[in-house]
Amino acid sequence: MRLTYRITKSLYAVYALVSDRMIRQDKFFLRPSAFPERWRHTVAKSQLRPGLTLIATPIGNAGDITLRALDALRDADAIAAEDTRVARRLMDIHGVSLGGRPLIPYHDHNAASALPRLLELLRNGARVVFLSDAGTPMVADPGYRLAKTILAEGIPLEATPGPCAAIMALTLSGLPSDRFTFAGFPPNKREARRRFLQELAPLPTTLILYESPKRLAASLADMAEVFGPRDAAVARELTKMFEETRRGTLDALAVTYAEDGPPKGEIVVVVGPPASPEPAGEADIDDALRDALTTMTTKDAAKAVASDLGLPRKQVYERALALKSG
Ligand code: SAM
Repeated sequence: MRLTYRITKSLYAVYALVSDRMIRQDKFFLRPSAFPERWRHTVAKSQLRPGLTLIATPIGNAGDITLRALDALRDADAIAAEDTRVARRLMDIHGVSLGGRPLIPYHDHNAASALPRLLELLRNGARVVFLSDAGTPMVADPGYRLAKTILAEGIPLEATPGPCAAIMALTLSGLPSDRFTFAGFPPNKREARRRFLQELAPLPTTLILYESPKRLAASLADMAEVFGPRDAAVARELTKMFEETRRGTLDALAVTYAEDGPPKGEIVVVVGPPASPEPAGEADIDDALRDALTTMTTKDAAKAVASDLGLPRKQVYERALALKSG
């Protein structure tokens, strides 16, 4: 009996994995729901649950929607969208009909009136999905206030992951990806933008910024001035017909875009991290020590120089003693 149970369970797991796509295309008459609940954990989580699900959508190429996102759109009791026309178009392309379900506009400017309606649905156990116009909700897009509010109410929050322009640009940039900072859109006005860039300058990470085409050249010129000659990439129209990625130093890219005029389409700028300073050589240590020893005790001079050059204090102290005795 136990063996039969195990064999049947294993067969089901294989069946469910292999047929995942086909089930969605209605080519199989048996759906996961036909199997006992306790076996379903063996397949990828596919069923939409009560609560809010944030859906990532394509950033240009409609083919980049995920199968889970389509399932969520099909199964939801209500759909909230930054722009309902954009959501309708995406659903039309993929043959997802709205039926009689509510399609609720939700964005930063109508949150006060839209939130109570969404909350009422969610408190009553509805499965609500939210999608922004493109890419991942909350990444320079609405969704944060909604997510924060429902979490505070103890309502479950889920997400179907997918496209994000920042991550795709990083992937294409050829720049270090072990540590990166997403900084959103720089301010439009030059002074505020330079202050914003100065705050980012010391971070030892790759930076990812969104920028509008008409401000790109000015923004790159400010970055070149504030960050210095770092490597960078400008990714444009990702996943679309005229997708391109230009790579080069910040100052060279600034000149290119100033000469060519504003490019068309949507832009992500990726900037490499600051170069790590060359380790100080013996001559640098001696010069700094000689200078410091003119006004400080040996101990204080060693302490100051070690801290300035980022070196172990003991090593610098021993060198200071050698200089004094020599
Ligand atoms: N939530 C989106 C995401 O996950 O990437 C970002 C939305 S934000 C309002 C729009 C900005 O994202 C654009 O101005 C541009 O900087 C960037 N972006 C979006 N789609 C893009 C694409 N296909 N190519 C390049 N940049 C894109």
